Amino acid sequence: MLKESILRYKEKGFKLTPQRIAIFEYLDGNTSHPSAEDIYKGVKEKYPTISFATVYNTIQALRDKGEVLELMIDSKRRHYDPNVSPHHHTICMKCNKIGDMFFDFAEKVVLRDEHLSGFEVLSSQINFYGTCGDCL
Ligand code: ZN
Ligand code: MN
Repeated sequence: MLKESILRYKEKGFKLTPQRIAIFEYLDGNTSHPSAEDIYKGVKEKYPTISFATVYNTIQALRDKGEVLELMIDSKRRHYDPNVSPHHHTICMKCNKIGDMFFDFAEKVVLRDEHLSGFEVLSSQINFYGTCGDCL
């Protein structure tokens, strides 16, 4: 899977440096919705010389090419999600953990308001705030 995504990045014109590959590795299949700081800390363990700017710029480039989602659900920091398929998120208000919710609500949404008639829903993202199983 990682090999496939690295090939895809290459096709999209990413310059593949060892540090960038380390960032791709960190993100590949990562479901923890890390912040830029988390990614920096994680990659630094393997590449102690990597700079925060390199990590940040790589994530922004991935975001611009549609390879990671930038989540704005935390007012303190942005979180990143390598899973760009349509899904929703749960946010624990005690430990701030962000979880995935794969459920298609679109077909359940009935737009009753008159001013919305003729509006076609193309995508939606719902944030569910509450308490996670670990914190309960
Ligand atoms: Zn929690
Ligand atoms: Mn997610």
